[in-house]
Amino acid sequence: MKKAIVVFSGGQDSTTCLLWALKNFDDVAALSFDYGQRHKKELDYAKQIADELDVPHHVMDVSMLGQITANALTRDDIEIEEGEKYPTTFVDGRNHLFLLMAGIFGKQIDAKHIITGVCETDFSGYPDCRDSFVKSMNVTLNLSMDENFVIHTPLMFLDKKETWKLADDLGGLDFVRYNTLTCYNGIVGDGCGECPACKLRARGLREYLAEKDGGHVE
Ligand SMILES: [Zn+2]
Repeated sequence: MKKAIVVFSGGQDSTTCLLWALKNFDDVAALSFDYGQRHKKELDYAKQIADELDVPHHVMDVSMLGQITANALTRDDIEIEEGEKYPTTFVDGRNHLFLLMAGIFGKQIDAKHIITGVCETDFSGYPDCRDSFVKSMNVTLNLSMDENFVIHTPLMFLDKKETWKLADDLGGLDFVRYNTLTCYNGIVGDGCGECPACKLRARGLREYLAEKDGGHVE
């Protein structure tokens, strides 16, 4: 019996990972984090998706992250823009903390497989989305708890177009498209169309649908 835990935000990427996990593991749980994100609705959508897929959903309070870091995802008064090194949406330590919590919680529920939707081909190049970081974190988790966790990153080397393809291959293209929240302005599905997250998502979808239609661009 292979049990897995998915780090789950209710966005396109982690929902695709949840579908991937359901295909590859016998028992799957979803873990979301309340870190004081701008859009609390994110957690509601995450719960709805998990319910729909009949996956147990757990929410962990890590709101101290919003207290000790200032960024555009946790502060209304910080604009979403290119920062000095990374966009202002980068949250220091976020994926690091999430993976640590997933390991601690995973051990309690006997889930040694941890799935995260981080991706190093993403536009922003966040340091804790890189493959080298995840591999290092996997080693650290195993050393810290004397366990054999395996962190899976099915999206690591995919671009947005390929992530849509994966959702489609898993039979969930429309499900992911209409139920997930990626938009920085908190609009579900195709979103506001204006923010960087929406633009990236829409471009990938357009490219994928065009490819699927045999190169015909709408
Ligand atoms: Zn948007």
